[in-house]
Amino acid sequence: LIESDRNHLIHPVTAFRPHERRGATVLASGKGMYLRDIEGNELLDAFAGLWCVNVGYGHESIVEAAAAQMRRLPYATGYFHFANEPAIRLAERLVELSPPGLDRVFFTLGGSDAVDSAVRFIVNYYNATGRPAKKHFIALDKGYHGSSTTGSGLTGLPAFHRDFDVPLPWQHHIPAAYPYRSPVGSDPQAVIDRSVADLRAKVAELGAENVAAFFAEPVQGSAGVIVPPPGWLKAMRDTCTELDILFVADEVITGFGRTGPMFACETEGVSPDLMTMAKGLTSGYAPMGAVLMSDKVYSGIADGPRPELPIGHGFTYSGHPVSAAVGLEVLRLYTEGGILANAQERAPRFREGLLDLQDHPLVGNVRGVGLLGGIELVSDKAEKTRFDPALRLPERLTNAAYRNGIIFRAFGDGTIGLAPAISCGADDMDRLFARLRKTLNDVLDEP
Ligand code: PMP
Repeated sequence: LIESDRNHLIHPVTAFRPHERRGATVLASGKGMYLRDIEGNELLDAFAGLWCVNVGYGHESIVEAAAAQMRRLPYATGYFHFANEPAIRLAERLVELSPPGLDRVFFTLGGSDAVDSAVRFIVNYYNATGRPAKKHFIALDKGYHGSSTTGSGLTGLPAFHRDFDVPLPWQHHIPAAYPYRSPVGSDPQAVIDRSVADLRAKVAELGAENVAAFFAEPVQGSAGVIVPPPGWLKAMRDTCTELDILFVADEVITGFGRTGPMFACETEGVSPDLMTMAKGLTSGYAPMGAVLMSDKVYSGIADGPRPELPIGHGFTYSGHPVSAAVGLEVLRLYTEGGILANAQERAPRFREGLLDLQDHPLVGNVRGVGLLGGIELVSDKAEKTRFDPALRLPERLTNAAYRNGIIFRAFGDGTIGLAPAISCGADDMDRLFARLRKTLNDVLDEP
């Protein structure tokens, strides 16, 4: 299998082939937060797959919900005038669970197409309301909004721009709110004021009459878990309101208990105009994403006020009944099943585990919220110097992690990302930090 993977499957993001034998880790099974590969090695998954398997592996009730739906009705198109019960019930539930004012749901297959859909709906909205010039979008450096052309252009990570003409001419970026490396220092209010000023300046440069929306993740996941100061999200939301541009919260990672509440926006009482979500929506058991929007935005969409102008936008698998049935059961586990409460109960120990690592010789900065954490490694703590890429730190970390029975994300700049299942037990949490420390020590001891 390892050889066949090497011969047939493409892994574009991984330039290196970890684990000495230089092949992929072929995963075979999972239970709780532990995975087993085809060679029988047990691996503690400290990254919930790709920040998605929030409820952990092996939930029979999800398997049963999927199987029952496959038997009853495996497919129903969400296109045209068709619908299906699980998709309707899931939309109802998402509206109940999301911040106030998000009343309408469009289902996608994942996060990238949720972002694309949000952009298209926003453009439709402004066209329908007689402001077609409002078609410029602003996002953050270091943000991640997917791998489609639209999403990679909104993304603020150069690797996703390389070789393509993105960002597109209507996509713009402002600096990230990155307290550890902010030019204004780490004072929370200074970082917030700087972001607000940057957003105002960019909108002024483009002309408010031309700017449609500002996109942001409440925590920037793929750039290395960059956590803005408390109050930042609210300040950015309020600035958007003041400037008459829509605020889109991309909660693909932060949604579904990852930062504590169901959605990160709740922490600051923020109601975005649109919200994108995926990953934890189905906890990875089936592919699905969604974009939620206010009635105001919905008013510009085809089956709203202008049925004579249908919008050419939709996916074959939008509102897929099996994914929706999975989503409903996953949401039940978060709420009635107590998994969201568990996330909140584990968060202090997670924070303590991160802070314990601050003194490690390789660690420059630790940061986190809820069960989402980042550990930024540096070669010089005082200067905050990143490791020389020639040292191949992410590869070394990944190899050492495998030997120590743990999976985490090793970002290109040497930051470690943690996002364990939010169903994680107290013992699992202790084991996670023990294996992580051992991994860091092993890398430190390498020549
Ligand atoms: N937005 C954010 C914030 C994400 O983290 C991701 C995926 N990591 C996406 C969008 C894209 O989601 P997907 O990979 O499901 O297309």
